[in-house]
Amino acid sequence: MSRVLVVGGGLRAAAAVSAHLAQGDTVVVVAEELVATLEDLADRGLVAWHARALVLDDVLAADVVLRRPDQPSGSPEDAVTPGASLSGDTPPGQVGEVVLVGAGPGDPDLMTVGGQRALAEADVVVTDRLVPLAALDVVRPDALVVDVAKVPGGRSTPQETINKLLVEHAKAGRRVVRLKGGDPFVFGRGGEELLACVAAGVPVRVVPGVTSSVSAPALAGIPVTHRGTTQGFTVVSGHVPPGHPDGTVDWKALASTGTTLVVLMGVRTLPAIAEALVQGGLDPRTPAAVVADAGLPSQRRVDGTVATIADVVAESGIGAPAVTVVGHVVDVLS
Ligand code: SAH
Repeated sequence: MSRVLVVGGGLRAAAAVSAHLAQGDTVVVVAEELVATLEDLADRGLVAWHARALVLDDVLAADVVLRRPDQPSGSPEDAVTPGASLSGDTPPGQVGEVVLVGAGPGDPDLMTVGGQRALAEADVVVTDRLVPLAALDVVRPDALVVDVAKVPGGRSTPQETINKLLVEHAKAGRRVVRLKGGDPFVFGRGGEELLACVAAGVPVRVVPGVTSSVSAPALAGIPVTHRGTTQGFTVVSGHVPPGHPDGTVDWKALASTGTTLVVLMGVRTLPAIAEALVQGGLDPRTPAAVVADAGLPSQRRVDGTVATIADVVAESGIGAPAVTVVGHVVDVLS
């Protein structure tokens, strides 16, 4: 365990901070402004933050001093029309490529070797909220890192802008990595981004990621299938509750599939979902668990039954990102 002083408050600094916190180091950040992730860590008292001056005692006490200036980086809108060339740009006329990379659920160890390689080679990295920030530590110092985080209820970048960003940078000859939490094709809008590249004639490939729908349960000790217990699992989005006009999930049918049910984006809607499953005929005693922040130091799991899980979650204060697992696999290993 070391004492680390990080100078800089951007994404790059956040990546270094996350990597060091994961190792159990003590971190002090000096920066005028912090990106949302760092601000959150400072608010929760997980890092110490000084806005203006280096504090001499911190410098003297530090075992490691990291300088992570924010340049080059930019807001998504600036980056769509990248006026300035980036160092290492290929000669004009050459088309680069877009790589859609799945970053896994949160622990940088759960990113694939191919994903890490693409990230280390990238000229431009377009990242968002659920990406393990520590993974960004392998990005070249001269690469452009663009944060298009879609914070619920907060700052967000329209999908159109993201697509344009990927295409424009690749057309300028750059190797662009679109980094997504989990797997890009599991509720990750990877398909839309791929189609936008194809439509623009930009080479595009996918490096699949470790999806939270399987790995969050696994990290919490729940296998999504287990011989003799269940012969399958069904993954659904709970972002709209049962009965909502935008919803296409047949919750009644899900109550009788006999498979494990895994619900993503369903913390807020959990009371309605659990009720719909019971109404649909699922035994109210069916075990259920919610796993939050899987793969992160803050990982938590709470258990109940399909009848009690919504109350258990409300009492525990557990929040998104979280995966709900319903089925007898929940206690098969405990
Ligand atoms: N593409 C992602 C899913 C994006 S949808 C994947 O394959 O994992 C976002 C939802 O994923 C969250 O609402 C939550 O349900 C789930 N999720 C993502 N990361 C998670 C984590 N570290 N722990 C628990 N759930 C997570």
